[in-house]
Amino acid sequence: MDIRAATELLPEVRWTHGDDLCDCTFQRIGEWTNPYLGRTLRVRFCCIWKELYKQYPEFVQEIPAYWDDNESAFIPTPMDWDSEDAEMPKHLWHRQVAIREGKALEQVRQELRGKTPPQPVARGTGRESKGE
Ligand SMILES: [Zn+2]
Repeated sequence: MDIRAATELLPEVRWTHGDDLCDCTFQRIGEWTNPYLGRTLRVRFCCIWKELYKQYPEFVQEIPAYWDDNESAFIPTPMDWDSEDAEMPKHLWHRQVAIREGKALEQVRQELRGKTPPQPVARGTGRESKGE
């Protein structure tokens, strides 16, 4: 295959974690690339797994809560963003709002387009500062 034919096969969009290109709650992208082979393999595991889950529902638990190690309990309410260093990633923000408001992810993406995600909290107020 000549290089021109190869570049025609190159994807226009690079799949990355948090690209928000699918509706999976937990996006998982695998990527392997090797310069000596001149090949890259990218896999949207999250989307493949979603199809597998339909075939094996007895092996899947979807729990409407997160596990809190400190409390040793499931907590059903999504936690407010509390990073002291970074704003909330948009893909995470979209999913949190969709879950909190019971809306479709695509609707939330449209409603939040152009808006600013939750910002870093003041030093000393984030979870990292509260210690254990
Ligand atoms: Zn996916």
